[in-house]
Amino acid sequence: MKVLLFGKGGQVGWELQRALAPLGELIALDFDSTGQLSGDFSQPEAVAATVRVVAPDLIVNAAAHTAVDKAESEADLARLINATTPGRIAQEAKALGAHLVHYSTDYVFDGSGDAPRDEAAATGPLSVYGRTKLEGEQLIAASGATHLILRTSWVYAARGGNFAKTMLKLAKERERLTVIADQIGAPTGAELLADVSAHAARMLRARPELSGLYHCVAAGETSWHGYATHVIERARAAGHAIKVAPDAILPIPTTDYPTPATRPLNSRLDTRRLRDTFDLVLPPWQQGVDRMLAEIL
Ligand code: NDP
Repeated sequence: MKVLLFGKGGQVGWELQRALAPLGELIALDFDSTGQLSGDFSQPEAVAATVRVVAPDLIVNAAAHTAVDKAESEADLARLINATTPGRIAQEAKALGAHLVHYSTDYVFDGSGDAPRDEAAATGPLSVYGRTKLEGEQLIAASGATHLILRTSWVYAARGGNFAKTMLKLAKERERLTVIADQIGAPTGAELLADVSAHAARMLRARPELSGLYHCVAAGETSWHGYATHVIERARAAGHAIKVAPDAILPIPTTDYPTPATRPLNSRLDTRRLRDTFDLVLPPWQQGVDRMLAEIL
């Protein structure tokens, strides 16, 4: 099997390079890949041509405009990267008979209520990022290509910057921290997403009727405040010089931390469909976070 991976340098893309390797010949591209193969998602036709040249059996797209606040002021670029180009890839996949794996987000929802949302729940994005990711989903579904769209949330990886690293740095420098406590979701490891993607893509190859939209997040839920507290207390227990006292990690509402893009308060996703269809277990969020901490501490 020939596998074409876009966005190889991102959090999920990096882990996909590992997880997809056993599936076959892997051609992995980033936006600055040169030569005949273009992975620059601001150039939909160049990316479409790349798909035709490589003629893969499986395409995995981990490239995205993920700068949620910046997207508010560069909506056209966000739309090209998150919607137009994934849509073109899907059209080429359909023409080739290739399968497509793509990622989307809880930000397609408006975040009201406190129940986990399943794949049939009504969407209502609050931001440019959410709207463009939703359009990407819709273009892929409309293409008729056999696909898996995995909606996930709060992605982290050991490589590169992440929320946990930022909190640890601040906890070593400051006596008091304030962290948002009214956005609820599940921190989800890039490793887990990549491994689930490889398993599900193999099953999709044998059973194309499984094509569709799935929610994929680690089990359990927390707030950014709960996540930060977990990370800081793990570091303290591991003997790191943490300045902030446990009772000085203060919960604040989202309204106290204004950002250009509005985030959903309820990011809970119901993953039953993914688990039942692909016979997979999604471990508690703490398991992946503790593993990431073991690598970075
Ligand atoms: P990253 O931001 O880590 O990776 C995205 C990759 O896309 C980066 O390598 C980035 O390059 C690349 N990219 C940016 N612009 C372009 C472009 N013009 N052409 C090609 N590539 C480009 O994101 P994640 O790995 O975390 O995200 C993977 C998927 O998961 C995405 O679909 C995202 O929407 C989704 N998701 C992510 C969440 C999160 O919390 N991160 C939450 C929910 C869903 P560079 O770094 O150089 O800009």
